[in-house]
Amino acid sequence: MSKYLVSIAFVLLLSTVALAKVAIVTSTTDLRSIAEMIGGDLVTVESLNKGASNPHSVETLPSYMFKVSKANLYCKIGLDLDSWAAPIIDGSRNGKLVVVDCSQNVPVLGKPTQKVDASMGDVHPLGNPHYWLDPNNGLIIADNILDGLITVDPANAETYRKNRDAFATKLSEKLTEWKGLAAKLQGTEIVTYHDSWPYFANAFGIKVDGFVEPRPGIEPTPSHTAEIIELVKKRQIKMICIEPYFSDRAPKTIARETGAQVVVLPPSVGGAPGANDYLSLFDTILKTLAGD
Ligand SMILES: [Zn+2]
Repeated sequence: MSKYLVSIAFVLLLSTVALAKVAIVTSTTDLRSIAEMIGGDLVTVESLNKGASNPHSVETLPSYMFKVSKANLYCKIGLDLDSWAAPIIDGSRNGKLVVVDCSQNVPVLGKPTQKVDASMGDVHPLGNPHYWLDPNNGLIIADNILDGLITVDPANAETYRKNRDAFATKLSEKLTEWKGLAAKLQGTEIVTYHDSWPYFANAFGIKVDGFVEPRPGIEPTPSHTAEIIELVKKRQIKMICIEPYFSDRAPKTIARETGAQVVVLPPSVGGAPGANDYLSLFDTILKTLAGD
């Protein structure tokens, strides 16, 4: 073989290696971040929802179907949060796609005890889907993604397992640091716009006393806002926390009437400056709550 042919063969080999990256699409940026840590250099990851947008409602765009049509793995939140992903996955006509439901094995909070009907708003009949906000669930998510990656790319199973173990070590170091940051927040009572924070509150000893929304997914009403104003006064609550994608009109009314502060709290990676990955998301939330 001539030198010329050898170099062509080498270039072809390199491009095959480059093409061999596992393509992952995720519903949210939090899943993207964890998938990046487990997949490392062997994967490309894209999230359909952006960090500062509402993860409950994402449009069914043809460009999303196209992305999923090229993917090997789709990671969804499950528990009905991203039921919008189903028509995108169907529309992608990707018969080889492996879909991972990252809520598998998560201890689910807020399962409704009564029958769910339309008058209750967008109550999720399967329980509260905001489970990624307990960092202990981050490892369960990582294990679900690991299983998916090993299914689509068994040859690199060892690397994925090593990455998962490195993530687990890093996460447990950060947990110690976060418990320190959360120490002065123990028992802090807050009102939040949406019921996004039960897992976070559970993990860090915070109490969510009420919601600006009268029901999940239902716009604030004057009568409900009046009730929340009373609650904030009675409990002497200092913070009305809102997700970046909700209107601050009702929260500002509550703040004006009570002297409480409106605080924008990012529930997802990319939802605020500094929340660049799954680990710095918790740094950002805890520092914001502590007023640092
Ligand atoms: Zn929700």
